Amino acid sequence: CGVFGVVGVSDASNFVALGLHALQHRGQEAGGIVTHDFETGFNQARRMGLVRDNFTSANMMASLPGPIGIGHVRYSTAGNKSQQTAIRDVQPFFGEFSMGGAAIAHNGNITNALALRKELIERGSIFQSSSDSECIIHLMARSMGRTIPDRMEEALRKVEGAFSIVAMTRTKLIGCRDPLGVRPLVLGKVGDGWVLSSETCALDIIGAELVREIEPGEMVVISADGVQSHFPFRRAKSRFCIFEHVYFSRPDSILGGRSVYETRENIGRELAKEAPVDADLVCPVPDSGTPAAIGYSLQSGIPYAMGIIRNQYMGRTFIEPSESIRNMGVRLKLNVNRALIKGKRVILVDDSVVRGTTSRKIKDMILDAGAAEVHFRIASPPTAWPCFYGVDTPEREKLLAANMSAEEMRVHLGVDSLKFISLDGLYRAVGEENGRDNASPAYCDACFSGEYPVPPRDMISKGFKA
Ligand code: 5GP
Ligand code: SF4
Ligand code: MG
Repeated sequence: CGVFGVVGVSDASNFVALGLHALQHRGQEAGGIVTHDFETGFNQARRMGLVRDNFTSANMMASLPGPIGIGHVRYSTAGNKSQQTAIRDVQPFFGEFSMGGAAIAHNGNITNALALRKELIERGSIFQSSSDSECIIHLMARSMGRTIPDRMEEALRKVEGAFSIVAMTRTKLIGCRDPLGVRPLVLGKVGDGWVLSSETCALDIIGAELVREIEPGEMVVISADGVQSHFPFRRAKSRFCIFEHVYFSRPDSILGGRSVYETRENIGRELAKEAPVDADLVCPVPDSGTPAAIGYSLQSGIPYAMGIIRNQYMGRTFIEPSESIRNMGVRLKLNVNRALIKGKRVILVDDSVVRGTTSRKIKDMILDAGAAEVHFRIASPPTAWPCFYGVDTPEREKLLAANMSAEEMRVHLGVDSLKFISLDGLYRAVGEENGRDNASPAYCDACFSGEYPVPPRDMISKGFKA
């Protein structure tokens, strides 16, 4: 998901809508905005679908007045993901407390949400949604804290897992990251106002400047008086999601002081060193494989070409929650550039193989178009474990790499060769010169290594074994 908030501007909702539009790659199912002004109080809108289809009309934006606002774009990873997001699961969530209202928007996934929810329901909480994030509002309602930030802090101390949160009261914008800082969150400045955003690309769109990242375990409370920071949790070593670098974040964002684009190009270079092959063309699977393909081409000297063309009017395949839509999605979204491919030995670069559906379809399309050979190069190590921290990977049984050896995967996909970047190579690409420090890794890489930095408590109680 993507979260965004702003305080101290004349028309917060327009800033939030633009910010969410720039974060749309983090969630395309639904979006919501909450603002506050002293004439009309809190105003809220939640809609299914894209920001540009919902939060652009003059009427909609006029219904969200005020100098402070937050927003959320949703991609379901927890709660109801059977078919489509229900409107009741669309954030921000809102609650009235004795000291006034508050809204919160959450990116990440709470790993003890089921346990918390059960306990809260037994003690009288009335849940409105199926979302893990709603626990936070109910924990805040039960807190005896005297201010909303105090209550939020107390609530978040009971929550485990990954959270980057943007919240608001009538006058304050609040940001918080979990102690490991699994999901990103940055602080920006626009005029006299302040901004919180999942990624820096959403600062660029509103002309805000990056001040700094919110640190792992940090909570900031921002008002007219400025930014107050404190660290309410036990300090821990940061474990940022390495997959944000590989796939999730936009390539024009800066993460941990590093350009996502450059990291991806480095991944491609590492891949070319680790897994060279004689071929005529390096082609990305667009868009997610593009920077790595450029890196592979630069390192190997094999020409880069757009062998697959993407229809710009389709969204991210993976983010379509139902299997049937995802299956169709590949063809609706990608087409082979036949004239270019015919008779060529092609290296295809993609970011990841999850179920293998995408790669198989693409290989079929490429061979149909008359390619002489197809070599897959993948910008992440084999995805063998599910993510429980806010990226929607399927259960282990459906992960190709959990069930097959590298050679079995190659045969299953029907390609001439298949190579994944090594975990060490990936760490080198994100700037860890010595590769992965196995005693104390610098990132979360659980979907590749199976080492979960936070025990996935709800899943363990359902029988999952890490
Ligand atoms: P597959 O067809 O192997 O299940 O899906 C892999 C494709 O899904 C890749 O091309 C990748 O770009 C895309 N993808 C989108 N979102 C995600 C995600 O959250 N996790 C992973 N691992 N891949 C994703
Ligand atoms: Fe990121 Fe993978 Fe860790 Fe999930 S399990 S937070 S996708 S590195
Ligand atoms: Mg892709």
